[in-house]
Amino acid sequence: MTEKRMVFSEDLSTSSDYLRMAVPLMIQRQIPPTPHNYALWYAHVQNAHPELSATLLEQFPGPGSYDPDVSESLFFDFFIKTYLPNSPQAQNLLVSILTQLARSVAQSAEGSKAYGESLKETIHVLEEPIDSERIRAALSQLLEDTVSMEGLNNAFRSELQAVSAEVAKLKKELEQSQYNARVDSLTKIANRRAFNDALQQALGSDEEPASLLLLDLDRFKQCNDTYGHLMGDRILEIVGGVLAELQSDSVFVARYGGEEFAVIATSPLGPATELAERIRRKVAGIRIQRKGSKDFMGEVTVSIGVVQARGGESPDSLIERADAALYRAKDGGRDQVVALNDSHGTSVP
Ligand code: GH3
Ligand code: MG
Ligand code: MG
Repeated sequence: MTEKRMVFSEDLSTSSDYLRMAVPLMIQRQIPPTPHNYALWYAHVQNAHPELSATLLEQFPGPGSYDPDVSESLFFDFFIKTYLPNSPQAQNLLVSILTQLARSVAQSAEGSKAYGESLKETIHVLEEPIDSERIRAALSQLLEDTVSMEGLNNAFRSELQAVSAEVAKLKKELEQSQYNARVDSLTKIANRRAFNDALQQALGSDEEPASLLLLDLDRFKQCNDTYGHLMGDRILEIVGGVLAELQSDSVFVARYGGEEFAVIATSPLGPATELAERIRRKVAGIRIQRKGSKDFMGEVTVSIGVVQARGGESPDSLIERADAALYRAKDGGRDQVVALNDSHGTSVP
């Protein structure tokens, strides 16, 4: 299965060229020019996806090789799936729902057609000269068909109910997978991906100044070595909790990666630095007792670099400057906040 989403954005002339290339290939193979098929062969001549091209040519080498099921499944794999979330469960569920729905619609349509035939037949008998025996037989047949049609309708209704329950389940799964894609599983705060989006958005706003805080726990390797990795994880969770409490309309907190966190504050450097100082103190105040022991662990401290974004500054440049400030905080002895307000690295007093 492919991850790459196919893009069709050619201008009229290029797409007409593709049309001229795709259609003869389809005609040669007697492939019906349905939208699904055309999309596949268009993508093939577009040379957008070598894997798709190879599969198409292998599956449909020439006349007589066309199989609508194979074609449909390729369309599903290369087009539809790329628009679905990455969760295989959600994808499978969606496929099973669609298959189930298609099957019950087909059954119901088949039933309606048979019932229609039966009605037509009865009307036909009624139009003929009166033959009470035939009329009785036709009406009794019609009654029988009505009962079985009713049964079919009921079955269809319950199929639909089952499908709508499946749809509700799928919706939940999709929401869950969208949530998981943006939340760090250990600390339950935003992850790097959500941070990148939030930073992009903050830098795109001209109305509010944006500042970035980069946080890095001090001597965390040593902490892991002394207390164990599980305890290290627990500390990360607690620090995540401290940050989560500060989350607001103007403060976005995220786990940047490893033992590093990031905070985007829609405020100028001064208040952002005060916020950083508050975080630093809160982290230094964390006391963790080891299981089964009265002793507290050694203090956890954090170093923080703070910078304010300049007009039109890119995320990379802002992160780089925040990183330089953080480096200074480490260099200056850790457990401290360093705010830089220009590219030469002048500290804010
Ligand atoms: P510094 O003060 O210079 O930042 O020292 P440091 O030890 O924190 O820095 P270094 O980058 O050398 O080490 C980071 C450590 O963080 C190493 C790694 O094992 C630990 N770490 C990163 N992610 C996790 C995690 O998810 N759980 C745990 N327990 N430890 C982690
Ligand atoms: Mg680090
Ligand atoms: Mg560190």
